[in-house]
Amino acid sequence: MLILLKNNAAEHDITRLIESIKQSGYSYARHREGRTDMIELEGAPAYFQLDFFKSFPSVKKVVTSLDFSEKVYRANKKGDTVISAGGRRIGGKNIELIAGPCSVESFEQTERIACALSEMGVKLFRGGAYKPRTSPYSFQGLNEKGLKILSEVAKKYKMAIVTELLDVRNIDKVCEYADIIQIGTRNASNYPLLKEAGKLKKTILLKRGVSSTIKEFLLSAEYIMCQGNSRIILCERGIKTFETAAYRTSLDITAVSIIKEVSHLPVIVDPSHSAGAWNLVESLSLASVAAGADGIMIEVHDKPQEALSDAGQSLKPEKLKPLIEKALKIAGCFNKTFMGRKERLK
Ligand code: PEP
Ligand code: MN
Repeated sequence: MLILLKNNAAEHDITRLIESIKQSGYSYARHREGRTDMIELEGAPAYFQLDFFKSFPSVKKVVTSLDFSEKVYRANKKGDTVISAGGRRIGGKNIELIAGPCSVESFEQTERIACALSEMGVKLFRGGAYKPRTSPYSFQGLNEKGLKILSEVAKKYKMAIVTELLDVRNIDKVCEYADIIQIGTRNASNYPLLKEAGKLKKTILLKRGVSSTIKEFLLSAEYIMCQGNSRIILCERGIKTFETAAYRTSLDITAVSIIKEVSHLPVIVDPSHSAGAWNLVESLSLASVAAGADGIMIEVHDKPQEALSDAGQSLKPEKLKPLIEKALKIAGCFNKTFMGRKERLK
């Protein structure tokens, strides 16, 4: 990376810039080519550092091999992408809530949960029919029967369906029932699947791979976008780190802010899969709203002890109510609506 300096740059500002470069851990060399003074840095900078270096008065231009030519970047689209689904908008000035069970287990279970959520104003109902389980011996989902249950229940409560597409062979079936198609963390780098999703006229909720960098995550979205589908919701759901405390993955809140900065696509957070523990879901949800997320996706089960998947992270419906009220307040601080509602400030 090259930092080109202005001809009349003040030496004290250049010294400040070099100090920052050193503090960021780069080795550097100062050159002069013709009449231009420049600083050459080794290594690829993070996105936010580009802007930071550009902010020094002595800097004329930052030249980097990082190009932002992909469609996912703000450089290539004016304004935020806003997705409409189930009569709600994800992105822009609204923060949305997607909620529902991890898996569709039966008509009765799905109906009970949908009924409770509908009373709280939830419009986007999630539920897995095809389940990506770590163990092949765990419940794998009800498959097409699950989609039919989702469809019946969602129709009754006038909700939109968010459900996972696991395998390219099920595209037609999932498309028939889903309003928003989820591509899960395990498939975040399944490029043939992403390309097919790019050919659909459906919104795709793309989760970040547990080991994907932000750049890799955005390039996964690019696989969808370059096929013509720009209806994409990005979802941060935690990444693998060295942490061994009793939670599943580390929620990368920083990624939310960074992605919002560089990409026009809406970004939501899934605190449930990130934490793997219901008692952490509220705080992670609120932190996500404060960090600028465009939505949160929460797993809810009225009888978590009986859930066939992700029992430990499923929130009881009555625990969602106070979370919604608190999220509404935080959204209000940023002059945003939550689930289409505006907090009336007293
Ligand atoms: C899910 O949403 O049910 C799921 C399996 O999520 P993830 O892909 O994030 O593990
Ligand atoms: Mn789950």
